[in-house]
Amino acid sequence: MKIETWLPCFSGFYESIWSNSDTLYNELDSINEDRFDNKLKPLKDDDSIEYDYRTRENDIGKRFTQLFAEELSDYIKDIKFLRINSPKAYNFSTDQIEVEVDLDINKIQEYIKAHREQFVKYLKDTCTSYDGFWSYYSNSIDEWESKTNYYSSLDGGEAHIILKFIARIEAPQFEIFAYEELMGNGCDVYNYFKNWDELRHCPVCDNCGKLFSFTDEDRKKYKQFDNPPAVVCYDCQQKEGE
Ligand SMILES: [Zn+2]
Repeated sequence: MKIETWLPCFSGFYESIWSNSDTLYNELDSINEDRFDNKLKPLKDDDSIEYDYRTRENDIGKRFTQLFAEELSDYIKDIKFLRINSPKAYNFSTDQIEVEVDLDINKIQEYIKAHREQFVKYLKDTCTSYDGFWSYYSNSIDEWESKTNYYSSLDGGEAHIILKFIARIEAPQFEIFAYEELMGNGCDVYNYFKNWDELRHCPVCDNCGKLFSFTDEDRKKYKQFDNPPAVVCYDCQQKEGE
């Protein structure tokens, strides 16, 4: 049965292990070590880093999806990454990895039967409405079993809740495992710097710290003064001239 749903065990790209407000700043030390070797002044902040976060998020989404399907391969017959769904604001929600999943319903029925007591408690814990939270799904296993015809007909939310239940028991550390698998294997932040070479090989303005790029247009815009040696960007030259 193919269902569109979203994966559990993923905490999104906002102030999470995958990405936070220090993500780019943390890369400065390594960039500045290379700049030192290249006899260039260090970058003072991360403003000059051009970073393709969208591509990184999609790559992580794809590979996280594959790892998740391998981890729960007894229950997932096939899976396809669809997209990262990002909220407009991060107050109450975060990014979700949306997938189309083909579940092995027989295996899921067996699993819930074998872990029935835990599933009863899990539904009470996660699907009970309270002040400020309204659950769209019932917290009663009897209602689940009649509504889903004993788990044979699931909507996206129900599939998510069941996958989360299985993952909690079978792969409780999955997100950290996935993070360690993907980092150092192509999904690190610095792999998505668009101006990697410039960051290591271009001078910065002595006045404002702005990085120059390799384009001829930008090269025309800075002047090198020999005595004392200085590199000053076009904007700063304009200000000095005023
Ligand atoms: Zn400047």
